[in-house]
Amino acid sequence: LSPSQFREEGKKIIDWIADYYENIEKYPVLSQVEPGEVIEKLPNNPPQKAESFESIMKDMDEIIMPGITHWQSPNFYAYFPSNTSFPSILGDLVSSGLGVQGMIWATSPAATELETRVLDWLAEMMDMPEKFKSTSSGGGVIQDTASTSALTAVIAARERATKLESNKSGVRQKLVAYVSSQTHSSLEKAIKMAGIGSDNLRTIDVDATFAMRPDLLEEQIQGDKSNGFLPFFVCATIGTTSSNGMDPIRKIGEICNNQNCWLHVDAAMAGTAMLCPEFRHFKDGVELADSYCFNPHKWMFTNFDCDVFWVGNRSELINTFSILPEYLKNKATESGAVFDYRDWHVQLGRRFRALKLWFVIRQYGVEGLQYHIRKHVEMARDFARWVDASSDFELMVDPPLNLVCFRHKSDDEFNLKLMNAVNESGKAFFTHTKMNGRIALRMSIGQTHTEERHVKQTWELIQNTAKKLSLL
Ligand code: PLP
Repeated sequence: LSPSQFREEGKKIIDWIADYYENIEKYPVLSQVEPGEVIEKLPNNPPQKAESFESIMKDMDEIIMPGITHWQSPNFYAYFPSNTSFPSILGDLVSSGLGVQGMIWATSPAATELETRVLDWLAEMMDMPEKFKSTSSGGGVIQDTASTSALTAVIAARERATKLESNKSGVRQKLVAYVSSQTHSSLEKAIKMAGIGSDNLRTIDVDATFAMRPDLLEEQIQGDKSNGFLPFFVCATIGTTSSNGMDPIRKIGEICNNQNCWLHVDAAMAGTAMLCPEFRHFKDGVELADSYCFNPHKWMFTNFDCDVFWVGNRSELINTFSILPEYLKNKATESGAVFDYRDWHVQLGRRFRALKLWFVIRQYGVEGLQYHIRKHVEMARDFARWVDASSDFELMVDPPLNLVCFRHKSDDEFNLKLMNAVNESGKAFFTHTKMNGRIALRMSIGQTHTEERHVKQTWELIQNTAKKLSLL
């Protein structure tokens, strides 16, 4: 493809994407294909001769699109969102066009320095403690996912607790880590991968709002210490996945500071709400944390993947992860005047992800981002009010932000039937979880293009479907 052919084909693909967004509500939100249906339509062997873009895009429409679940549909309420926006798509396109691999400062100074600046901007936009800024002792780095941030935090905490010994000799101490019963499963995975072992992960119970109970955390830590264990890591969550529980960061942070435990705060989904001053009470005490992450790729209009990971002390991260082989040595690194982000995480090579974040922040502005976040929370509160006022449905817990957990008052089987019937209609897609042993339906409102009318129509759809099912 020559640059002029690229220009021509590229414009067609931009048109294709714009058409997609204009028509997105015509697609069933949840893909309706059966297992194996897509692969069956794909040739067994790769083409030997070049094919035209026209034929590729024809297959895109006919084979791939039916197998797409439309995460960007305004009627997508499942899991947590993974939203995007046009500035983000364009920023990502520019990043692909440049094809930069920013593993060290020297491989593209702008990739590193833009990332540093944008994450400092974000810290300011969310009123994060000074220590998380690059101008202070810490700084931020973009990771692929919150799971990777969790792993990075656990490994750095392990090295702090063992004074860098476990990097050399493996984990010899009886390290123990703490999460709540609502913590995301990525933490258990991180504990397994970091060689701590899931037997050494303690699960702390939660209160009626699904927040970790600090009294039980303290009791467990004391008990472990008297049994010869070395408590080293606690994860607190702002906005748990199943229940949107808000762990009390200050109380947990005080315990961690007294007990020499690394505190990681996982705000993967709810972290974006910190753009708005009225939601910042959920992060009260965050200055006591050692690391913190949130996913712009969930709720901040930035396409997957993009997780922001801040630490209060970057030296601990760099001492844990830095390895300098001969082939990566260069003057800038030796000068000590630059950040080499490869030393801040697991991977070496890295994409220029700061670009899409920069496009989003500049194109929306802080006020534009705040406007959309507030709208989502408002819509969730409306939905919660409708559920509360209905005689057939009940709320599982008051929604602190944009996730509403509710259920039909009949049994678990009926709730699952109801959810499947709505999802199979293709008109909306939402998912379930278990809360206090019972099935709960989750309405997660965070799609870029969701408006009040979509939420209202979905509530009507849920109610009408429930009525029909009860008559069967
Ligand atoms: N933490 C929380 C609270 C989450 O809700 C999720 C995913 O939904 C994760 C971590 C994992 O996110 P990622 O897919 O970025 O690893």
